[in-house]
Amino acid sequence: MLVTQIKPTEELDGLLPKSLYVIHCLGCKEVHFPLEEAKASVEELKGLGIKIEGEEMADYVCRPDFTEKRLKLYADGIKKADGVLVYACGVGIQTVAEKITEVKDIPVFAGCDTVRLSGYAGLMPTELDCVRCGECILGLTAGICPVANCAKGLVNGACGGAMDGKCEISSEKDCVWLLIHNRLKKQGRLKMLDKINPVRDHISAEKGVKF
Ligand code: SF4
Ligand code: SF4
Repeated sequence: MLVTQIKPTEELDGLLPKSLYVIHCLGCKEVHFPLEEAKASVEELKGLGIKIEGEEMADYVCRPDFTEKRLKLYADGIKKADGVLVYACGVGIQTVAEKITEVKDIPVFAGCDTVRLSGYAGLMPTELDCVRCGECILGLTAGICPVANCAKGLVNGACGGAMDGKCEISSEKDCVWLLIHNRLKKQGRLKMLDKINPVRDHISAEKGVKF
């Protein structure tokens, strides 16, 4: 089962814009989402003065075809918001970040950390990946995961080895930090790259929850 933990409000405070559209994934049977905690987290954000332009529940946010259609259904609310906050696994959040541009190119933020997977993962209908690091930084990286997609798992920018936009380990693979830079630039959010993410122990991924 895949486990997520709701991010502390203090971590989101200061990062989020003044208005949000919220999407909760109700998951699939392979994923546990603490829905009541997620709803409580949204209430705390309202208490900080953040306007919620809409709040939706959805199944299988990781499915690109479902998510694309849903975002179009939610378009009226999304167009009023400055960002989308997603409570889903890392793959679901990345799927929203990929598809949101068809409605409005606004930043997508992670409301939770994907912590652990034990047992059967289910089948993912996408090439997007999450390695369940337990410290989700998608809100800082334009919804593109460097932990799963950078060959070195770097969380503070590129290694400098990219050539013509390709990763130094493979000319077939885009440098993920270049993709992050380009998407942040398009969104006018390059200042996100000023934030230094703490050094992390990659070995501790998937050890956040005991059950
Ligand atoms: S940063 Fe990447 S690996 Fe970590 S939880 Fe988010 S999507 Fe998953
Ligand atoms: S070239 Fe880019 S993707 Fe490849 S290891 Fe360096 S920073 Fe990571």
